[in-house]
Amino acid sequence: SPARQLLVRVRPLERGAVLVVSEDHSAVVRADESKRDLVANVSHELKTPVGALQVLAETVQEAADDPEAVRRFAARMAIESQRLGELVRQIIELSRLQSDDPLLEAEVVEVDDIVSEAASRTRDAARSHQVEFGVAGQTGLQVVGDEGQLTNALTNLIQNAVAYSDPGARVSVTTSRVAESDDHWVEIAVTDNGIGIRPEDQERIFERFYRVDYARSRENGGTGLGLSIVKHIVAGHGGTISVWSRLGRGSTFTIRLPENIDADETGLPWDVESIG
Ligand code: ADP
Repeated sequence: SPARQLLVRVRPLERGAVLVVSEDHSAVVRADESKRDLVANVSHELKTPVGALQVLAETVQEAADDPEAVRRFAARMAIESQRLGELVRQIIELSRLQSDDPLLEAEVVEVDDIVSEAASRTRDAARSHQVEFGVAGQTGLQVVGDEGQLTNALTNLIQNAVAYSDPGARVSVTTSRVAESDDHWVEIAVTDNGIGIRPEDQERIFERFYRVDYARSRENGGTGLGLSIVKHIVAGHGGTISVWSRLGRGSTFTIRLPENIDADETGLPWDVESIG
């Protein structure tokens, strides 16, 4: 972990005495470092698709008298520019979620709606990867928050479960209620029996741009930002995300969100202003 940064102010007092005030400056320094790292990471990540597009554009020009080659390179340019567009979209999304004002809505959200919307968005991908998909667990659960963002977060987890599984695999979404003394939580778990994640990678996959297998992520159109975005959405809702995984066996990603225990929609159970 990074060294503690103490900001020390020394103020001379009367008769040679000094007043020493020290405050912990670590958080501020960390935030600056994180911004600097983001710029460095982003520049690095943008270079790949931009470089590929440049090379492809030059190749197309050189192949002008071979229509078949032109078509082939143009098709690859389309894929690269789509990738670049998705990367830029996710970078903007992540920086908004990391900002002081992530613009999250706070309304009562039916968990069943999030699950069915995320399931329908990922149905085609599951079908084309020949992955069987199922939903189970408790119905009628509610949380408070931004329905669109929560749907995006769950969609992302299902997309990963499908992408990092082999044909014939099974992905399931399970919803449940967890009560811990006075705290009531809703858990949404996405389980796959796919490739799994080693313990040392489990610790890092929520970092932006971290990918265990760069080639496989790229093949799936991955940017390495998905889980980082999910983590920020969940945190913005006062929740947590955790992963359980065994290499070669599969993974479970579990989102835990505060449950809306007040069925009366006029009285939200906590100060919604403080969310996000
Ligand atoms: P990506 O765009 O690469 O999928 P993510 O941030 O969504 O980026 O995930 C980071 C990395 O975590 C992935 O590249 C992959 O190596 C690993 N990962 C994520 N979900 C799973 C999963 N369900 N099974 C195995 N590995 C996963």
